[in-house]
Amino acid sequence: MCLLLLTTCSLLLEKKMIVVKVGGSVGVDLDAVCADVARLVAVGRPLILVHGGSHLTNEVATALGHPPQFITSPSGYTSRLTDRRTIEIFEMVYCGQVNKSIVERLQALDVNAVGLSGIDGGLWRGTRKKAIRAIENGRLRMIRNSYTGRVEEVNINLLTTLLSNGFLPVLTPPAISYEGEAINVDGDRAAGATAVALNASDLLILSNVPGVLRDFPDESSLIQHIPRHDIDRIAENYAEGRMRIKLLGAKEALDGGVGRVIIGDSRGTQPIEHALSGTGTIIS
Ligand code: ADP
Repeated sequence: MCLLLLTTCSLLLEKKMIVVKVGGSVGVDLDAVCADVARLVAVGRPLILVHGGSHLTNEVATALGHPPQFITSPSGYTSRLTDRRTIEIFEMVYCGQVNKSIVERLQALDVNAVGLSGIDGGLWRGTRKKAIRAIENGRLRMIRNSYTGRVEEVNINLLTTLLSNGFLPVLTPPAISYEGEAINVDGDRAAGATAVALNASDLLILSNVPGVLRDFPDESSLIQHIPRHDIDRIAENYAEGRMRIKLLGAKEALDGGVGRVIIGDSRGTQPIEHALSGTGTIIS
């Protein structure tokens, strides 16, 4: 029995695994993403979907009287300031409304999707940061009440058990700390860690832009290819805010053995097919 499961899992991982991360910004077309997922699943391509929910979380947090706050690290990365109340709102939106709406769409397309956060089954584990450094009005500030971290371990057993039994995992932050606290982790980097753990051939990071733009927001200035050695330079010179984190996630994924990363657009039809055929920014 154990041998059978092991054989099924290694067969599964030998096939070209795709990890798709779809963002939570305005314009993302979840219907189109789910239609593409269903097409790929129907032809037997192993796939995992990871999603965000930032825009809706901002709206709900504001409506609940706890508006979002963002911080910028000394190295220029922007992230959500996540106190305990923010984690609760985050869970309502990411693990609740957004996750279930994706699972519902996929079920309607005959895909047996299972929604999980990184907390469930200890799927994504990491260390909660004791203190975060942020630059505020040009000065360094230490933040100590934040529930954030980075995915350090992925429960591969859980994912391969689901995949080998015909379920499609739909994953979302938060993750879980080693002490058992929910921690906000970046979805792009979590998708990268998942792609590394599953030895994926492709990591697709789909957002509301055509890819990395040389002259944001001019959409005709798409950078079509970024070689591994050039990621840092491009990030520093062209990417702002959240795009920088996507490039960091791409770098971590490539360094962990993922074949290629494509940052693509999820605003139109067939977003996954287009990205797989090379539309967007290919990082390899
Ligand atoms: P998602 O929620 O889809 O993951 P994010 O908002 O986190 O998307 O990141 C994508 C955003 O990055 C774009 O909407 C854009 O505002 C921003 N961005 C910053 N610099 C660039 C750039 N050079 N090229 C493309 N997008 C950029």
